[in-house]
Amino acid sequence: MDHFLYKGGILHAEDVAIPDIAAQVGTPFYVYSAATLTRHYQLFTEALSPLPHLVCFAIKSLSNVAVLKLLGDMGAGMDVVSGGEYRRARAAGVPGDRIVFSGVGKTRDEMRLALTDGIRQFNVESEPELRALSEVAASMGRTAPITLRVNPDVDAKTHEKIATGKSENKFGIPIAKAREVYAEAARLPGIEVVGVDVHIGSQLTDLAPFEAAFTKVRELTLALRADGHVIRRLDLGGGLGIPYTRSNEAPPLPTDYGAMIKRVLGDLEVEVEIEPGRLISGNSGILVSSVIYVKNGEGRDFLILDAAMNDLVRPSMYGAHHDIVPVVEGAPGSPTHPFDVVGPVCETGDTFAKGRELALLAEGDLVAFRSAGAYGAVMASEYNTRPLVPEVLVKGDHFAVIRARPSFDEILSRDTIPAWL
Ligand SMILES: *Cc1c(COP(=O)(O)O)cnc(C)c1O
Repeated sequence: MDHFLYKGGILHAEDVAIPDIAAQVGTPFYVYSAATLTRHYQLFTEALSPLPHLVCFAIKSLSNVAVLKLLGDMGAGMDVVSGGEYRRARAAGVPGDRIVFSGVGKTRDEMRLALTDGIRQFNVESEPELRALSEVAASMGRTAPITLRVNPDVDAKTHEKIATGKSENKFGIPIAKAREVYAEAARLPGIEVVGVDVHIGSQLTDLAPFEAAFTKVRELTLALRADGHVIRRLDLGGGLGIPYTRSNEAPPLPTDYGAMIKRVLGDLEVEVEIEPGRLISGNSGILVSSVIYVKNGEGRDFLILDAAMNDLVRPSMYGAHHDIVPVVEGAPGSPTHPFDVVGPVCETGDTFAKGRELALLAEGDLVAFRSAGAYGAVMASEYNTRPLVPEVLVKGDHFAVIRARPSFDEILSRDTIPAWL
């Protein structure tokens, strides 16, 4: 459920008409709904109650500081995967004790930053990383709270580029080896074991792989406690999927997910952390674009938009589907036509959809890509020297630009010509 609805035939973000934003900001742009972000965050905390828990928003899905402040002010924690994301969370006012640090390649500088400014825990993904963290923390006279991310060897049954819980993936420590690595962690200076972490992938549309992984985490927790470790926190990762098409096969809801967690892990007397990204941000944002040309090709017609793969890479990178809708709704029963929807970038991969049935759109018409809030703006680039796409936040009848489109002067001023050239 989101807050992008037609009112009087015109697509709105909450109470703001999309054409009003387009007139002020120009296209393309992303627009996020505060009410949708809020609601999705609340669904998760309600689903996990009354278990002690923290919902850590996966910043990598949507990392604008204004969005982080909105979620952080409600009490959300943050899951960061780089020093840059750590800085974003802090800039949004989120205290260090609500930030968890994930990722396979944390550098010593990133460890030092988090240990200096405050961290809830590091989710450690390998033995070399564990030893490096011990060295860094001990040299600072600090103690680093850690979980070990275990790889449960579970097939998440999602797109291969976003599956992370199989033994062939680069993530985590094989679960069969976990007790050995926990024993080493307990001996290392500067390290305090606080729990176990798992994250098996993204855009999961079935609870079974989660349940298989969490059951393995449960068994591991009991074994680690028997070994003498204090396991007081379980970080269960993110990955719950969203419906990208309006079909009858909606993925499980946060309530179903929360009920399963309580059933599998509820008696362990642990604090539960989850790291949802897409389910909070995905349907909270749309990408708005306008039609530059309608080009009639041989046997197919192209809708050439002013948004391109550099603004929304998911279709070309993952073959992902996004619903594309006209901002001004046609009259009921108006004709549709199959279009190949493309951007202006000089790559054949710059294709959003093929043969998509759409209203008869014309030059200058606005269209919106639905479910574009997650892994949209954060993956944008300036390929083809197209300015980084701006972001807008709506709350009720307010809207504000939360990241401005850079000017060409700004873009060009980042390059420098060496004096010797
Ligand atoms: C990407 C990622 C997430 C968020 O995944 P979603 O599918 O967006 O919920 C959570 N935790 C880790 C460690 C991740 O890498």
